[in-house]
Amino acid sequence: MQPAKPAPTRFRSGRHFLQIPGPTNVPDRVLRAMDRPTIDHRGPDFARLAGEIFEGLRPVFGTEGPVIVFPSSGTGAWEAAIVNTLAPGDRVLMFETGQFATLWKRVAERLGLVVDFVPGDWRHGVDPGAVEARLAADRGGQGKAQGKAEIKAVMVVHNETSTGVTSRIPQIRQAIDRAHHGALLMVDTISSLGSIEYHHAAWGADVTIGCSQKGFMLPPGLGMNAVSDKALAAARQGGMPRSYWDWEDMLKNNASGFFPYTPATNLLYGLREALTMLHEEGLANVFARHARLAEATRCAVRAWGLEILCAEPAEYSNVLTAVMMPAGHDAEVFRAATLSRFDMSLGVGLGRLAGKVFRIGHLGDLNDLTLVGALAGVEMGLTIAGVPHRPGGTQEAMKFLCDGV
Ligand code: PLP
Repeated sequence: MQPAKPAPTRFRSGRHFLQIPGPTNVPDRVLRAMDRPTIDHRGPDFARLAGEIFEGLRPVFGTEGPVIVFPSSGTGAWEAAIVNTLAPGDRVLMFETGQFATLWKRVAERLGLVVDFVPGDWRHGVDPGAVEARLAADRGGQGKAQGKAEIKAVMVVHNETSTGVTSRIPQIRQAIDRAHHGALLMVDTISSLGSIEYHHAAWGADVTIGCSQKGFMLPPGLGMNAVSDKALAAARQGGMPRSYWDWEDMLKNNASGFFPYTPATNLLYGLREALTMLHEEGLANVFARHARLAEATRCAVRAWGLEILCAEPAEYSNVLTAVMMPAGHDAEVFRAATLSRFDMSLGVGLGRLAGKVFRIGHLGDLNDLTLVGALAGVEMGLTIAGVPHRPGGTQEAMKFLCDGV
């Protein structure tokens, strides 16, 4: 006899499955760390906390230079990078890799920058060849007085969260160098930092932009800028009128463990704990775990007979997989069914991908069983929403995880 189906109720037993590509699941250790009284942000305990955070952050960004932490979302950290280094009317080079690149471009334009926006199909990352060609033309190109370069910054999104495509930053750096161009390199690592390998200094980035709610496994509310000497020099010489986002004010105060205004103290407790966790696991292990869980996810998607949005395997993202819906099926209907029946949130299709893709987040605090649970939820969701697929994707992922890499 079939057991009776439970009557519909608002009550949800068990944990919600948050499988969006950020905000990510906040580990219990981080929640416990934040569940403490807020302290005097001008006192000695705070100075110690700040010192530990700056020390723990540097290796995650891959720099020995300063990392600035703002009480802000990632969008604020985008703005900070711009207003400290660039002036209205400055020309910058950006690439249409997806929705976040498009939104960053909008911020740049609102602040008065002139953006050369290289069009893209939202299935590929930044083409290093295009970077080199644009910069070479800028240095010597037609209409340029004595070959004087106009492009002041190359601004790229490392991991495009809307598409699941990771751009190759070292190759982009090499392209800039091959063109012998002096533009600043600004990299949005908002959804890659702490999950995918990244080295601010060794890869020659000038400003690296991060935030709290992805690989750092924290709630939203902290935006970050790692800055090179060249970026600091640009900030000293110019930039835009700024106050809240001013690096100089921050660095002056940070030197003694303080902030120019009230910091997000309890988020900083959480950040210290998250950094401890990342360093306990070891960054190389963190990256390997993400790579393995991402490949398991792709095994499942292929076995379902669905298409991965990222068109170039060398650019597959290890933090999320965007899956294309079969023609005639709305990703929103599928996502709603998965949420209401299995209490799992999957990432929405953003911008021009609305309704056409769903995104499986596999970043932050997760392990083999979290992923298998999420993939089982996707497979059951596809079934109940009537989305054509071959069964057995979850099984394929399990096989991959058992075999190891
Ligand atoms: N850049 C990327 C790659 C993102 O994924 C996001 C948010 O998801 C942002 C920028 C914007 O960050 P926020 O929403 O915290 O302002």
